[in-house]
Amino acid sequence: MNLLVRLLSEGQTTAAYIKKRQLGDKHANHVDLFQILSTANSTAYKRLRDVEESTTPEVQDALRKSYLPVLRESEWEEARKITRHRQPVHSHRWVTFVPVAGSDGLTAPDDDSPREKLSAFTDVGHETAVLSVSLTGPPVAEIIENAHCTLPVRGKCLRGCGSCELHEVMGQRSGLVCICEHI
Ligand SMILES: [Zn+2]
Ligand SMILES: [Zn+2]
Repeated sequence: MNLLVRLLSEGQTTAAYIKKRQLGDKHANHVDLFQILSTANSTAYKRLRDVEESTTPEVQDALRKSYLPVLRESEWEEARKITRHRQPVHSHRWVTFVPVAGSDGLTAPDDDSPREKLSAFTDVGHETAVLSVSLTGPPVAEIIENAHCTLPVRGKCLRGCGSCELHEVMGQRSGLVCICEHI
């Protein structure tokens, strides 16, 4: 599971404060991972710093660029509406939404693993990928890039191939995933 999702829903991050500061800035469409955690959760923040110190320059770069996209609740509901007449699917990974300030929220990658991680989006070259940092074990970051369909942001697949369909994920937590005819 993504610890960020819990921290955000419990108001244990600075996301609401950052959102307030971003008001009026039309280009502010995401919040940085390091900013969300900096003062709010010292253990998680320290873990990110440990990974940053001990990793390769490429991963370091991806980590520093990690973010969670800003989404309005209505955008999330629009995306969910698309899936209304489709069969919910099983998936180990999905995207979820957490309201943080009024009708604004953040969308975050989440997963069904019992292990707590910090997961966010990042850019690798021209592609969007998911970066995950485990809270235990060696301080490493895992970057997950998909060849085909993957996680949707703002209702759009991050790697659409033409046959993409949004689906709701079965389970206790609300989530969306994109599926194509190749998987
Ligand atoms: Zn495909
Ligand atoms: Zn897709």
